Amino acid sequence: MIIYNSLEEFNSIKHNLPKLSFVPTMGNLHEGHASLIDIAKKTGNEVVSTIYVNSLQFNDKNDFINYPKTLDTDIELLGKKGCNHLILPDSSILDNIKSIKAPIKSMKLCGAHRPGHFDGVLTILNRLFEIINPHSVVFGKKDYQQFLLVKDFIDEKKLNINIIGANTIRNNNGLALSSRNILLTEKDKLIASTLYKTLKDIEKNKTYLNSEYLKTKLDYLKSSGFKVDYLMSCDTESLEESYNINNNDLLIAVAAHLGSVRLIDNLVISKL
Ligand code: AMP
Repeated sequence: MIIYNSLEEFNSIKHNLPKLSFVPTMGNLHEGHASLIDIAKKTGNEVVSTIYVNSLQFNDKNDFINYPKTLDTDIELLGKKGCNHLILPDSSILDNIKSIKAPIKSMKLCGAHRPGHFDGVLTILNRLFEIINPHSVVFGKKDYQQFLLVKDFIDEKKLNINIIGANTIRNNNGLALSSRNILLTEKDKLIASTLYKTLKDIEKNKTYLNSEYLKTKLDYLKSSGFKVDYLMSCDTESLEESYNINNNDLLIAVAAHLGSVRLIDNLVISKL
């Protein structure tokens, strides 16, 4: 694996490279990230990954400062997985960067609780796409809203990029792997797995899906120790609140704080 310590370094050699599949990350890599590299490898292209903790997408300064950093083990994992190129952008990535305003869909779900978050995500990705010029990109559907906004961005800008969504990798208790899980105690991890259990429970009872039913699940999460940002049932494309499970698949999405750690998860449940 070749490591580049800035975007400029990569930019100066990229004309020699074949088609690329790109996996953007913020580091502290786990099996979820590893699965994205596997998917990228399957495209047959060379794989390029980035590790960059994007200050523009953090609206909570402490969350940014405390974001776990494990560069040595990240490099080891990417190398083992057969990643071909790793870019470690330095702060010059922000020089003269073009700000992107995310569309209205970005104001729902996580965006309603993290103002400017998706503007920051799309601003950095736009820069990375310009420099890397990938043929394919792989994003995890754990960050469903992010996946959707990037897909829409690629469509709207008519970028010649194939976007691939990857299923969420979980631990044995169903907890979605996340870099922030490292900040949870073992006891908290058990409580955190209630999020996925709740989503599965909602799926099991989908014939009863309505706002009152969801409210009982929300109350249950609160009584389990979460401070819940949202638990919502919505259209999988528009992200508008919806309970119309007769005609459409629905996205059940949740974001909740356990102590100082914010967790998200979701499940797409199929129509009746
Ligand atoms: P992050 O490093 O958190 O910015 O995540 C980088 C990419 O990994 C994003 O596309 C995430 O959606 C994806 N990702 C994070 N956690 C998981 C997981 N548990 N399973 C699959 N993909 C994941």
